[in-house]
Amino acid sequence: MARETTKRCRTFRFRLHPTSRQTQTLLRQLDLQRELYNAALEERIGAWKWERRSVSYVDQCRTLTGLSDLRPEVTASGVTLCRGTLKRLDRAVIAFYRRVKRGETPGFPRFKPAQRFNSLQWEDTSGWKVKAADRRLYLLGVGEVKVNYHRPLQGTPKAITVQREGTKWWLSVRCVDVPAMLLTPTGREVGIDLGVTNLVATSDGKRVEGEHFGSRARDQLADAQRKLATKQRGSRRRRRQVEEVARLHHRVANQRMNAAHELSRQLVNDYDLIVLEDLAITKMARAPRAKPDPDRPGAFLPNGAKAKAGLNRSIHDAGWGTLASLLSYKAESAGRIMVTVNPRYTSQTCAECGHVEAGNRVSQAVFRCLSCAHVAHADVNAARNILRAGRARQALPA
Ligand SMILES: [Zn+2]
Repeated sequence: MARETTKRCRTFRFRLHPTSRQTQTLLRQLDLQRELYNAALEERIGAWKWERRSVSYVDQCRTLTGLSDLRPEVTASGVTLCRGTLKRLDRAVIAFYRRVKRGETPGFPRFKPAQRFNSLQWEDTSGWKVKAADRRLYLLGVGEVKVNYHRPLQGTPKAITVQREGTKWWLSVRCVDVPAMLLTPTGREVGIDLGVTNLVATSDGKRVEGEHFGSRARDQLADAQRKLATKQRGSRRRRRQVEEVARLHHRVANQRMNAAHELSRQLVNDYDLIVLEDLAITKMARAPRAKPDPDRPGAFLPNGAKAKAGLNRSIHDAGWGTLASLLSYKAESAGRIMVTVNPRYTSQTCAECGHVEAGNRVSQAVFRCLSCAHVAHADVNAARNILRAGRARQALPA
C-alpha cells in the first residue's frame, strides 16, 4: 500500500545511443571541457601560489563571456555546459577543504588526463531538451540523440549529465517535483552491520553474502589486472587487455549498483527505522595516521596507506557508500527513517547483557560473551548493538 504525497528531487538514468558522428562531437566536447577544467584548475593554483588569492566559481564563470569569441568551439554546446565543468572543479576544491578541516590529508584536485574525464554536465535548463515522447535528447551543438527511456521520467527535468563508460554513453536527468510514495508503517526496525568480508548482517539475523555485491566479477577483474601486468608495453595484446580490464570495471560497478538498489528497496519496504554505522567515522578509524615530513613543514611522507588499502578496500567502501546513499534517498521518499550511528564498540559489546570486552569477539565470525556466555554470529550481534544505538538516538530530543 502506498499513497502519494510530498514532492521530491530525483535522478533518472538512461542509456544514450549517439550516432558515430554524434559520438565524435561528444568526444571532442569531452576533450574541450577537460581543457577548460584543467585551465581553470591551473588558474586557481597560480592565483594562490603567486598572489595568495583565491579564485571562486563566480570569478571563473565571468571569464566565460570572453571565451565564446576567443574559443568558440569550447562554448559550441552552450555556456551552461562550461559552467557545469567549472562547477565540477569548484565541488572538488570545496570537498578538498572540507576534508582538510576534518583533519584528513587529502591531495589537492589534480589535472585530469583524458581517461579520467568522462562526463559533461549541464547545470541549468538551457542547451538541452528531454524529448521522452520522441525517445530523443536534444543537445546544442550535437543534435537529436537517441535515448532508451526504459521507465517513465517523473517530475520536471532541471539538469543533465552525459557520461561515457568505455564505449557506452549514459544520460542522467535530475528532476524536481517528483511525487513521493509514502509506504505504510510495518512496525519493524532494523540495525545493519557492514561486514568486512563483503557481507551485510541485520539485527534480526539475516545475512547477505558478498557475491550479491559483485565479488565474482571482482575476482575476474583482479585476474585481468594481473594479466595486464605481464603484457608488453605498446603491444596489441596489452591494448586488448586494457579494454578487458575497463569492461570488467564497469561490470563490477553495474552489479554492485543493481545489488545495492535491490537490497535498499527491500530494507525500505520491510522496516520503518533503518540504522547504519556512520561510514565517515568507520573509515577514519581505519586510516593509517599520516607521517609529517621532517624536511618539509606541512608535507607528508608516504605511509603505505594507499598500497595497504588497495583495490578491494576502495571498491568495498564505494559499495557501502552507494548502499548508504540509496537507502537514504529511498527511505526519505518512502517516509521511512534512516539514521547513522558511531560504530565504536558495536563489535565488542554483548547485545544480550551489554558487557564490553575485546575478547568477546572470538573470531571474524563468532561472538561469545565472556560474562553471560551469549553466542551469536559476530556481525548479527554488532547489528543488534547498532539498532540499539539508533533507537537511543531517535529517543533524544532533536
Ligand atoms: Zn553477555
